[in-house]
Amino acid sequence: MISSYAGISPHSDLVLIEKLCEALSGKSFLHINSTKAGGGVAEILQRMIPLLSSLGIKTRWEVIEGDQKFFDMTKKVHNALQGNAEVITDDMWEHYFEVNRKNASKIDLGADAVLIHDPQPAALVKYRKTGNWLWRCHIDISAPNPEVFSRLEPSVKEYDSAIFSVAKFARAAAIDEFIVPPSIDPLSEKNMDLSDKEITEVAERFDIPLDRPMLLQVSRFDRFKDPIGVINAYRMVKKYNDCILVLAGSPATDDPEGEEVLNEVREHAEGDPDIHILLLPPFSDKDINALQRMATIALQKSLKEGFGLTVSEAMWKGKPVIGGAVGGIPLQIVHGATGFLVHSVEGAAFRIRQFLNNPTMAARMGEQGREYVRKYFLLTRETRDYLALWYAAEHRDKGIVFELDPPMQKFTGLKKS
Ligand code: UDP
Repeated sequence: MISSYAGISPHSDLVLIEKLCEALSGKSFLHINSTKAGGGVAEILQRMIPLLSSLGIKTRWEVIEGDQKFFDMTKKVHNALQGNAEVITDDMWEHYFEVNRKNASKIDLGADAVLIHDPQPAALVKYRKTGNWLWRCHIDISAPNPEVFSRLEPSVKEYDSAIFSVAKFARAAAIDEFIVPPSIDPLSEKNMDLSDKEITEVAERFDIPLDRPMLLQVSRFDRFKDPIGVINAYRMVKKYNDCILVLAGSPATDDPEGEEVLNEVREHAEGDPDIHILLLPPFSDKDINALQRMATIALQKSLKEGFGLTVSEAMWKGKPVIGGAVGGIPLQIVHGATGFLVHSVEGAAFRIRQFLNNPTMAARMGEQGREYVRKYFLLTRETRDYLALWYAAEHRDKGIVFELDPPMQKFTGLKKS
């Protein structure tokens, strides 16, 4: 219920949402992605779909089905769009389009607005019927492998609009492009307040000692998240500051590489009892919440990143954060004010030590981070943006000018350390 966000989210967002819902009331909104669980997209949809429904919008969430061959191929597409060299054969592309065709015949694609998330279901647009079709790209597409992008581009061009998380991902395409950063839900199990007792219970269950500072990275086991780099940074720090490292992750049904990366990480960590690798089942939201709350420093040392919800999640809990200076992370981390951005293992180690040796500075940045997230990265803001976009798309004749509110530039009052 939207009223539950009163006093948490910015009041202006709540007012705008109510006004937009009055205008769009009774209309239908369809979201389609490729997994119910695992990763940031499913995380957002699990919360946004019920919120939209409670606002009087007829909202549906459909998940496309595919076989191993399809998800192996789409993971390659994902990696290639984030800049990796990948070989994707014609046969693989044929399979991709065929799986999309089959899904189009099974899913009811009729709705007033259809929001397709990421490349996996992007080709469904070929079977569009009524309504506004929007392609929502969550990945870092700033420097894609051109050959792979060129295979996807004809589908993208069939949409009315494309939505990216960060301005530099926009493609200067022939269709409308909008920037809408993702968000976290302050009321979800992942982010709600927990008691000290609940946090300690989780620490005991996972056998995590709370007697030393704890570094935490929560991520799918994916090379772009650089778990090996995190271990190397921890090892550099450990020579001077006693601490423990927790790497927590779980599999996503649309990410077939997870197990291989997990094995590499286990091998690299071997022999160190202070590295805790936790393989969590899907929907371990409360456990992740507790881990983020018991952490001294939260890391997201990604090498490529669409947005990195885990950064906002930790900031919302008042934690000092260190993140790779890539993709959507610099949108959240204002360097020296809400956390530190890093470009290397050495840089990460340096900043970890800086936080560990300056608890007052760490606490101040944590507090500023929480307020920054309140203003820009809560679910209500993202919901507001989608509704506003949709409204604008339906009223093109009114010449509505869409001025989004790019964070960094407008937020004043941040103290740099
Ligand atoms: N997550 C989770 N369990 C895990 C690892 C991650 O629930 O074991 C959640 C994490 O808390 C965050 C989301 O999955 O909400 C990951 O989103 P992010 O944008 O950080 O990365 P993505 O996986 O989408 O690349």
